Amino acid sequence: MPVREISSDRITAEVRRLCIESNRVLPEDLEQIIRTAAETETSGIGKSVLADLGANMDAARERNLPICQDTGMAVIFAEIGQDVHITGGLFEDAVNEGVRRGYTEGLLRCSVAADPIRRGNTGDNTPAVIHTRLVPGDRLTLTVAPKGFGSENMSRLKMFTPAASEDDLIDFVAETVRLAGGRPCPPVVIGVGIGGDFELCAFLAKKALCRPVSRRNADPFYGELEDRMLRRVNSLNVGPQGFGGSTTALAVNIEQYPTHIAGLPLAVNMGCHVTRHKFAVI
Ligand code: SF4
Repeated sequence: MPVREISSDRITAEVRRLCIESNRVLPEDLEQIIRTAAETETSGIGKSVLADLGANMDAARERNLPICQDTGMAVIFAEIGQDVHITGGLFEDAVNEGVRRGYTEGLLRCSVAADPIRRGNTGDNTPAVIHTRLVPGDRLTLTVAPKGFGSENMSRLKMFTPAASEDDLIDFVAETVRLAGGRPCPPVVIGVGIGGDFELCAFLAKKALCRPVSRRNADPFYGELEDRMLRRVNSLNVGPQGFGGSTTALAVNIEQYPTHIAGLPLAVNMGCHVTRHKFAVI
């Protein structure tokens, strides 16, 4: 198959657009599930919080504003076809230039500390967190997922032993949500990674947050586990913004991977109700 050329300028332009658009409009199914929850929520205050979230989404769309003041650290998933040749510059430079332009020209808050201990602000929301995978074909798929840290900070990982039961896993997810309370801006979207090793299971949990909330795991076993985790979390009475109620989580998305015979890693990546992501195929 002939190599297909994609210019670094094109990558920059797409990343810029995705940064701005993902911060202004939520994925359609996530928006819908929030609006439906406003009807089904059992607590009065929970209902009114969910109605406010709906009004906030409307205002962001109408006035071209970000949905939340925390416009996140830019997480980029790139699936690069093996038959793609990137021209005109380095791939990661092109992505970071897109983030820089998206955040500065789109007037999005720049939230990246230049150093994790000595702090400071890079001033343009770079560098992004970039996850790259080589895939078959001659296309380049870019997903931009701006991640707020009110929810990110509530994430947890545990290296279970293979003796852990399904109930143990559900308990850990529920405990994570209970400990977080109102801090991750519930109702939350819960990304769960199961399997792999220490770092892959955290990656899977983040990737799970980019799956549409309306789509269950393709494996019925994990699809059912998602439903059981969601029911359990929604029995905790954390509720919208932590005020109590039946809508603590909007969805649980699991991504799984084979693991070592001696282990069973599980990571929970907490996503808030503003679990943003948008993709483009070049
Ligand atoms: S956790 Fe989400 S909703 Fe809350 S401040 Fe951060 S980005 Fe905004």
